Amino acid sequence: METLEFQSEARQLLRLMIHSVYSNKDTFLRELVSNASDALDKLRLETFRDKDLVADTSDLHVAIEVDRDERTLTIRDNGIGMTRDEVIGLIGTIAKSGTAEFLQKVKQTQDAAASQDLIGQFGIGFYSSFMVADKVTLVTKHPRSAEGVRWESTGEGTYTIEDVADAPQGTAVTLHLKPADAEDHLADYTSTAKITEIVKRYADFITWPIRMAKEDGAEPTTINSRKALWARPASEVTEDEYAEFYRHVSHDWNKPLETIRMHGEGVFEYQALLFIPSQAPLDLFMRERKRGVQLYVKRVFIMDDCEELMPEYLRFVKGVVDAQDLSLNVSRELLQHDRQIQLVRRRLVKKVLSTVKSMMADKPESYATFWREFGGAVKEGLLSDTDNRDAILDIASFASTEDAEKPTTLAQYVERMKDDQQHIYYMTGDSRATVENSPHLEALRAKGFEVLILTDPIDEMWVEAVPGFKGRTFQSIAKGQVDLETEEEKAQAEERQKDFADFLEWMTKTLADRVKEVRLSSRLTTSPACVVGDAHDLTPTLEKMYRAMGQELPPVKRILELNPGHGLVTGLHKAYGEREDHGPLAESAELLYGMALLAEGGDLPDPSRFVRLMSEHLERAL
Ligand code: ADP
Ligand code: MG
Repeated sequence: METLEFQSEARQLLRLMIHSVYSNKDTFLRELVSNASDALDKLRLETFRDKDLVADTSDLHVAIEVDRDERTLTIRDNGIGMTRDEVIGLIGTIAKSGTAEFLQKVKQTQDAAASQDLIGQFGIGFYSSFMVADKVTLVTKHPRSAEGVRWESTGEGTYTIEDVADAPQGTAVTLHLKPADAEDHLADYTSTAKITEIVKRYADFITWPIRMAKEDGAEPTTINSRKALWARPASEVTEDEYAEFYRHVSHDWNKPLETIRMHGEGVFEYQALLFIPSQAPLDLFMRERKRGVQLYVKRVFIMDDCEELMPEYLRFVKGVVDAQDLSLNVSRELLQHDRQIQLVRRRLVKKVLSTVKSMMADKPESYATFWREFGGAVKEGLLSDTDNRDAILDIASFASTEDAEKPTTLAQYVERMKDDQQHIYYMTGDSRATVENSPHLEALRAKGFEVLILTDPIDEMWVEAVPGFKGRTFQSIAKGQVDLETEEEKAQAEERQKDFADFLEWMTKTLADRVKEVRLSSRLTTSPACVVGDAHDLTPTLEKMYRAMGQELPPVKRILELNPGHGLVTGLHKAYGEREDHGPLAESAELLYGMALLAEGGDLPDPSRFVRLMSEHLERAL
């Protein structure tokens, strides 16, 4: 027998469980039954995949055994079990994402009751046993291990582990219940009536039989109805039942934001029960993230994470699709080429998007939550799902200069557009502040035009690819020429252009290493200068992104635009006209360029040189 130590996070979590005053302790049973049900699913799948696996799948079930005299409660399954290494890895450590954050939150919460509520939201899994038991014994056997394993712990720092010869297939978790009078929050978990009630409440929908003998010596009977929630008439299912099922499929202990039911009839019959969570998972933008839709065939669980049923950009949607006309042997390869499955996927996507659209109208607060949590992922669909582009644009919202607090939809933007406004103006940048302070915004502000503020990394990409919304094109205010002038203003601009022609040519030559052109601007009112991209050039953010991904790119030179109404520019222009020797003016040109870069939040190529030139010039002016 070996005695091992729990990993430190696990120790913290266990201490929390042992001293828990969390009032809803019944949830420990939900956790254990849920684990047992997962284990049965896994075994069934494994035997499909690996024909050589020796396991008995003829009567997969969960059994609950109560011993009133010993005060023990055993939850037994004949599922996949665990190897010795798995027991140490899965039970002795906590791999669950978000555990560290959870513990941090608990620490920060001074109020004991509030910190106990966090337990309810986090979903504490196997360790919740220690809320009701002072010792837990687990005996398990994996079909690929020759021997079984016995694990035991009081939850205080260490556990023991030893091999056992005669362990049956699957896992048995035995709880040595705390004394009956331990404290008032403890219900009588040796009461079969109590156990039945908890199973009914939390696990009725589990499709595997959960059996228990109601009295000593009686035959075990099945105590859950095993009715798949998605197969029951919608009118009969309560919101609590949906929430409970959501917890089971998602392992997320918050309530879902929205529940979606669908069914298809005809050639390909299916039922779907989907959920939009109320909170983005921590791995939403990580590489190994999973999609959340499970595939069932005729009530039998086939696979988790069925990517053929939900596109990547809707990976946060959880739930179940139960198809009637697929083989139980169906593989991912087969699914990929199945036209019916593709059809189902198209319908599911449309349904999810239209559900969000009705949320916008009926439950604006839920919609706001949805977009805050998942908007970043949904926008990926603008690139990957061109068929649904319009539907995605319809449900999107964006920060805008109109309202600092509240994002706007495109429909609302278009409604507010000025009579003489042609385009939907936007600017991309790192943050709202950089965009708002950027000189590019000046003339649009002066004209009263609204500008969308796009600060997600994905914004840079889709906005290039999507031509427009309802016939209005997207126009960057930091790229190309911005055509904001009236006829009269245009005539004046042409005059000025002639006037400045020599000067601009000289500026262009002077700054040739840094910019491709220096020209006059119509977008500036108060700043002296700004840098803009050519209409088809990469933006600085994209350039940085590609370089970070290791792509070789020639340096992208941009255009320096000068404000012909600004004293610095007119002053420099005048000095240029009056002097024979233009050499000394080159430094001023360089400073002007540096200021334009700083104003948009960009990096100076040589900051210390900039500071030196600037201080010399200031000194001379004093
Ligand atoms: P979660 O179920 O969210 O992963 P748990 O703490 O409930 O977290 O369980 C941790 C892991 O231990 C499970 O993911 C599973 O791999 C393993 N496990 C727990 N109970 C069983 C069981 N009855 N049979 C097989 N494996 C189990
Ligand atoms: Mg679990």
